[in-house]
Amino acid sequence: MSTAEKGKISVDTENIFPIIKKWLYSEKDIFIRELVSNACDAIAKLKKISLSEEFEGGTDYKVNLTFDQKERTLTISDNGLGMTDEEIKKYINQIAFSGATEFAKKYSSEENKAEIIGHFGLGFYSSFMVSKKVEIITKSYKKDSKAVHWISESGTDFSITTSDKSDRGTTIILHLDEDSGEYLDKWKLKELIKKYCDFLPVPIHVESEQANKMRPLWSESPASVKEEDYKEFYNYLFPFTSEPLFHIHLNVDYPFRLQGILYFPKITHELEASKNGVKLYCNHVFVSDEANELIPQFLTILKGTIDIPDLPLNVSRSYLQNDPLVKKISSHIIKKIGDKLIEDFKKDREKFEKNWHDISIFVKYGSMMEEKFYDAIKDALLFKNSDDKYTTLTEYWDRNKEKNDKKIFYANEAEKSSVYMDLLKSQGLEAVLVDSRIDSHFIQFLEGKNPDWKFQRVDSELADQVVDKDEKPGVVDQNNKTESDRIKEFFDKAIGREGLEIKVSSLKSQEVPAVILLPEYIRRMSEMNTSMNSEMAGGLLKNHTLTVNSSSSLVKNALKSYEGVNPAKGESIAKQIYDLALLSSKVMTDQEMGEFTRRTVKLLEELTSLN
Ligand code: ADP
Repeated sequence: MSTAEKGKISVDTENIFPIIKKWLYSEKDIFIRELVSNACDAIAKLKKISLSEEFEGGTDYKVNLTFDQKERTLTISDNGLGMTDEEIKKYINQIAFSGATEFAKKYSSEENKAEIIGHFGLGFYSSFMVSKKVEIITKSYKKDSKAVHWISESGTDFSITTSDKSDRGTTIILHLDEDSGEYLDKWKLKELIKKYCDFLPVPIHVESEQANKMRPLWSESPASVKEEDYKEFYNYLFPFTSEPLFHIHLNVDYPFRLQGILYFPKITHELEASKNGVKLYCNHVFVSDEANELIPQFLTILKGTIDIPDLPLNVSRSYLQNDPLVKKISSHIIKKIGDKLIEDFKKDREKFEKNWHDISIFVKYGSMMEEKFYDAIKDALLFKNSDDKYTTLTEYWDRNKEKNDKKIFYANEAEKSSVYMDLLKSQGLEAVLVDSRIDSHFIQFLEGKNPDWKFQRVDSELADQVVDKDEKPGVVDQNNKTESDRIKEFFDKAIGREGLEIKVSSLKSQEVPAVILLPEYIRRMSEMNTSMNSEMAGGLLKNHTLTVNSSSSLVKNALKSYEGVNPAKGESIAKQIYDLALLSSKVMTDQEMGEFTRRTVKLLEELTSLN
């Protein structure tokens, strides 16, 4: 062995190690990530070289971790490209060290504490976080190169000698300090490899047992990955969750590099959605499972992996927030998700409709949050219609705009089988069903985007089409009143409720004696503004309209009683008709329900006494 060459790395560096040790104490596990990813890099580089050059030593690439409890050493070795004497001076003494110096300069002040307790890698020098002495024994793949042995006990002084290492690659021996005995443990090492290096595409052995899964599915070409592989990968990443609804394989080269697989999970419990589901990787090395800065807020329900090779491993949250690349990535992801939804919609509408229930809230919310997203998916927005079939609004519009007088009728699920719906359907008109809290906002949003569209709730106003316009105005009696006037007076008197307006119309259907109508704007305001709900709480909003159907024989009979021998009975029937209308609109108070029941019993009593 030749005499050792000794050196000092830099002058103003004595203060670095106390800083590194102190600041990174809570994150000291990351030295494993740094050293193992360096080892895998060395193998990746050699694999590339192997395409054009020949070298000795075979291609059974592997990284090995071993430890010796008695000696308190942890050894990480690879059979990658290795380093020559020159290279070790350049890469370790200069480059690796300049990273550490920069780090110490930047983070020696108190204010930055929070920033570095996130994610900060220090490359090779992180080994000094846990070691009192570090050795590198390395032999380059290059022909006739000599093995080199580098030793440093302080991180600032080093010595280099030759070594008798005969095979290609690098071995790093850490002499662990007193506080770092935990790394002399197979279980601990395996756990760390699983956490940080699970998808590095090189076998990583801990005490000759492979500890990583290895297959970073996201880096494979989408065309070569089978559907089962995607599912299996999801189950691997997120065990014990139900099957995802669909996935998107991202593969971008320009203007930034990004690969990833994002899954749309089936959300069975609301809380699940708030978990951090997207894991961030940098060249297959796990960085963080808080990729929220990259993913627009409405997409944080997604699960999966994103790999951004140009993101430095030492990525901190504040870095992510300020990086212009992050904004680009985020809009790219939005666009891709939009494209995927449209593609599925066009390719397999049946399947898309099946998933719609699970994704609709997210799609609607996303549309309102991100204009670009809405623009991308607007043609795939679905609503159920009164026949329980899914329709897009454009399809609905094309089918109905003439018939519906340029209106989009809508109702909620509860009103699906209401008299309003019956009235509409009896005239061959169609309505769409809204089914979630978000819909009242969403409808407003859609009107803003499509000025032609006017949504109208089925119970807000009677569609012209259900009113019989051909009905003659009616004969005038000696008091100059039509039958309609008399019905109005009769109902006003019989019900006498403040805020209630009675209107009389002849409806095409005779089966419905009366319906309650609520002005569209009041309904919308009450649904959006919870402060108005107190007014709703007692049943119906104060101001509403009862439209009495002058074609109904029940109404006619009641009027006859009222104007004839039994006005009291007429009034009872009028009240009954109003209550039935309240019942149909599902807004009856407990008190109204009580009165209704008692009156019904009485009327039936009268009816049966006639026999
Ligand atoms: P980084 O990996 O970010 O470049 P490091 O401090 O981790 O910084 O390493 C500095 C350099 O040392 C690497 O770029 C590489 O050239 C060299 N190096 C480190 N570890 C190995 C290894 N196991 N095999 C070959 N070269 C290595």
